[in-house]
Amino acid sequence: MTDTIGTDALVDWITRFREAVTEKREWLTELDSAIGDADHGANMARGMSAVSEKLGAGAPGTVDELLKSVGMTLVSSVGGASGPLYGTFFLRMGMTAGAVTELDAAGLAAALRAGLEGIVARGKAESGDKTMFDAMSPAVDALDAAIAEGDDLPTAARKAADAAAAGRDATEPLVARKGRASYLGERSAGHLDPGAASTTLLFETLAAAISGSS
Ligand code: ADP
Ligand code: MG
Repeated sequence: MTDTIGTDALVDWITRFREAVTEKREWLTELDSAIGDADHGANMARGMSAVSEKLGAGAPGTVDELLKSVGMTLVSSVGGASGPLYGTFFLRMGMTAGAVTELDAAGLAAALRAGLEGIVARGKAESGDKTMFDAMSPAVDALDAAIAEGDDLPTAARKAADAAAAGRDATEPLVARKGRASYLGERSAGHLDPGAASTTLLFETLAAAISGSS
């Protein structure tokens, strides 16, 4: 357990995220069948297995190479809205991280913040629109707050994952204002947002990779 995250741990994060979306594929699809077109599980599983294949060809040496490769693969392999959104997230993370081999807590927080801003630049989501933003924004805020309070990186990442889960759960009563679910209007209320659910897996797996838990 250290207070930095290196390329190996980032690869571990990506691998864990692929495993999580593959394992929860049916649940993500079920959520998307209620308020979308029932493809979020398939989109995420397909995108992340394409990422794994790419990484299997030899993991890039620097954080920016790794994250940019993940982002570009997602953009090119996922047809749904989530591909370009998650793709932009990883691309912006990589651009902000730069050509380094590890990130300290502040560096990781800055990269994640840039990723979130990339999603906003692309999809224009705001708080309460019932999207992945509603899980990601509180997670990034919680990470910043924990680091400012002096928490170590594993503790801060755990708090970020908990904040993502709370944000995901809070999407249930909301009426969607962005994406396919917004076509349903009031009928979108009463269901969790699928993208907020996958984003929670993103932060859960980040916390697990950072703490090195199995
Ligand atoms: P599609 O909607 O094209 O079928 P997916 O089902 O894979 O794509 O992803 C749907 C998820 O994408 C939604 O649950 C929501 O979280 C997210 N999403 C859709 N539009 C936006 C947007 N404009 N900004 C942020 N997230 C969005
Ligand atoms: Mg869909």
